[in-house]
Parts: sequence; structure tokens; C-alpha cells
Amino acid sequence: MKMKRLVGPHIESLKPYVPGKPLEELERELGIKNPIKLASNENPLGPSPKAMEAMQAFMKKNHFYPDGAAHNMIQAVAAFHDVDPAQVITGNGSNELLTMAVRTFGDYGSDVAVISEYSFAAYAIVSQAHNLEIRRVPMAEGYTFDLEAMAEAIDERTKIVFVANPNNPTGTYVPADALRAFLKAVPEEVVVLVDEAYHDYVTADDYQSAMEMRDLRERLIVTRTLSKCYGLAGVRAGYAVAPAEMVNRMNRLREPFNCNSMAQVALPAALDDQEFVARSVAVNEEGRRVLEEGLARLADRGVSWIPSQTNFLLVCLPVEGVKVYDAMLQKGVIVRPMGGYGLPKWLRISLADKEKMTRCLQALESSLDEVQAEVTL
Ligand SMILES: *Cc1c(COP(=O)(O)O)cnc(C)c1O
Repeated sequence: MKMKRLVGPHIESLKPYVPGKPLEELERELGIKNPIKLASNENPLGPSPKAMEAMQAFMKKNHFYPDGAAHNMIQAVAAFHDVDPAQVITGNGSNELLTMAVRTFGDYGSDVAVISEYSFAAYAIVSQAHNLEIRRVPMAEGYTFDLEAMAEAIDERTKIVFVANPNNPTGTYVPADALRAFLKAVPEEVVVLVDEAYHDYVTADDYQSAMEMRDLRERLIVTRTLSKCYGLAGVRAGYAVAPAEMVNRMNRLREPFNCNSMAQVALPAALDDQEFVARSVAVNEEGRRVLEEGLARLADRGVSWIPSQTNFLLVCLPVEGVKVYDAMLQKGVIVRPMGGYGLPKWLRISLADKEKMTRCLQALESSLDEVQAEVTL
């Protein structure tokens, strides 16, 4: 008798998410002292001080289970965005909320997820993991979302569409007018998920958060994270605002303790720490200026980048990105190769303080020398 297959083809062919290399791993593998990590868009200032204080104070209560309803977290988000607490759901990072949205609203094996090319890898991974068919829409010029094409790609089988604004890994954004038109154009039965992980870094005048567009359609989920501008990636805290009916359905399959106690005390304190957010944005702007100036000096060697509204730059090289990535690792600088995104000549570099950006530029330039010397041999 033939053995029953272990997993379906959608799991068999699934390629898991590849995170940025941790500092400790580089130290362990290459014995490199004082490496820097510019690979996961983490906050160079560390965590929000108010959040740290709240977590420290809570430490001695960690023998208790977390609040399964995450009451304080939900209340803090509701107050922050001036919405009903019934419209808020919190997650183990916003990544869990993407998963929850697909698990809750996707009809496995029959629905389609519409996703842009060069968009956050998690959308396709979680959609495939849940056996949704993925329809990938090419980007418009300038590596921006082609929202018109995405709206056109939607048919009666489409259940969910993902928009990262601003987008990772391109750093580009969707202007308010275009996003509004899209939210109106997408048929009402489709769930639109707008991922605003980098919201706090945006400076473009014509940007507007989808939080302020929730009157345009019912089926809209807007996600935010504390992992970037609030410096709490390790704590795993994210949230979504959606209609109460959708939050109610997502809550039915939420794990009872999906938000740990540290996240539950850190989030309200962090949202209250807007001074830290402002400081993070200022450091980010400075980092961008330093990195862009340095990259501009490498322009005649074929280096370019995409203007960014986030805390990273997507940088195009004249050679294979992974080779430069490897050479930079040897110099203790971890960046992110983009081959997995179908961008083999690109590296994504997280922005940080001037000192780290300067070290990164030195490593990049000498690595480029090495790789180009090797290529011309
Ligand atoms: C970093 C990032 C997130 C955040 O993930 P968390 O699970 O909240 O840490 C979400 N979406 C995008 C596009 C990101 O780049």
C-alpha cells in the first residue's frame, strides 16, 4: 500500500523565511569581534526607554500567565488611534497578524492572494503555507506598487490583497490619492491588508496612513509594529485595526497567550514614548544622509539606490550582491542579500547612526574592490 503523503505540495515546495544573520552567529562562525548588523531594520538606539522601564518593573511577575485578552495592550492601541477596542487585535509581532488574517479569511485551496512583486516575503510565504494561490503583480516604474494593475488582477477567486506602505524591501511608498483610489476600486468582498511597519519613518507630504481611510471600505486591516521605530523587535509586539466583525473572527483562532507579558507591558509604555520615536526618526534621517552621500561617491562604479521612506536603503551593485555581502561579513558588517527576492544585484542596508553608516560604507567600498578584482581576473 502506498504511504499517505507527509505534506501537501504547497508545504513541500515552501521556502521558509530567511532572517538576517544574527550578530552572535557571525561572531561564532567567523570569530569576528564587534560586528554590526544592518540586516533587519532594527533600531540603532535600542528599545524605547519607557518600554524598558515597564518591562523591568514587570519582571518579577513573569511566573503568571500573560493576560489572555491583552487588555492593557488593546486599550492602549485603541486610545492611540482613537478607535473602539473591539476594532483592535494584537499579535506576536505584526507578522503573526498577517498569518492570522490569511488563516481566518482564506479559503484553503480555492482562494487567491494578490501580492506585488518585490514586496515583503512573509505575504507569499504565509499565503502558500495556507494553500492559497499566489498571483504576483509586477511593479510600476521606480519599484513602486502598481495599484491599478493589482486592482485589475483581482477576480472572483481573490480573497486577500497585501499592500506594504511603505514597502520592504524597496523602501518606496504609495501616495494617499493612489491608495484611496485602490481601496475604493477593490471589490468589497476582498480583504485588503495594508502593512504599515515603517509608517513612523515616512516624511513624504503626499503619504497618508490607511488608518485614516477606514471609512472607504469595510474589509480593511491595517497593521503596525513596535519592531522598528519603537526598537522592540525582540519583544514581538504588533497590532492591527480592523472592523470589529473581522477582529472577532480573527480572535477565534488566536492562540490564548499570543502576546507575552513583556510585550503587553512594553506596548503601552512605548506608544507613550513619542519623544523616542522622534529621536529614532532623527537618527534615521541622519543615517540616510550619510549613507546616500557615501553611495553617491560610488555612483561612477555603478552603484545606485532607490529613494526610501523607511529605515533602510535598497542598493543596486554592478556585481552579484551575495558576493559583496559575503565580503562585508568578513569585515564584520551584516547587510541583507536580496537574491531570495529576485534581486540578485541588490543589497538592503538598514539605516543607523553616522558611525555605523561610515563603517558600512568602508566595508562596502573595499568589498566591492575585492569582488570586482575577482570578477575581472
Ligand atoms: C519588519 C516588518 C514587519 C514587522 O514584523 P514584526 O513581526 O512586527 O516584527 C512587518 N511588515 C514588514 C513589511 C516589515 O518589513
